[in-house]
Amino acid sequence: MSAQDSNNQEGTRQEIESLPPGLNYLKGLEELMKCPICFDYLQAPMLLPNCDHNYCSLCIRKYLTLKEQCPACGCKASSNLLRSNQIFAKVIKQFKTIA
Ligand SMILES: [Zn+2]
Ligand SMILES: [Zn+2]
Repeated sequence: MSAQDSNNQEGTRQEIESLPPGLNYLKGLEELMKCPICFDYLQAPMLLPNCDHNYCSLCIRKYLTLKEQCPACGCKASSNLLRSNQIFAKVIKQFKTIA
């Protein structure tokens, strides 16, 4: 009869429902969502698994034909290591609707 209920405790989630008028603190986020190559929001973001840097699919592919390294940190990279970062694409899409 002693059933141990294991309460699933989810960490305190902070949902951004209503943003305060000053969006300054989102600036850092915005920077993360921009491509260091073209300085625009990431288009079809691709992740380099070695260093977790993200670039537009087209930007990084073009870059990697010239140099097989990450433009931001210089670690080894090649186009067959690229991973599509779909969830990040969705985050960016949502972000653009509020920013
Ligand atoms: Zn780009
Ligand atoms: Zn990198």
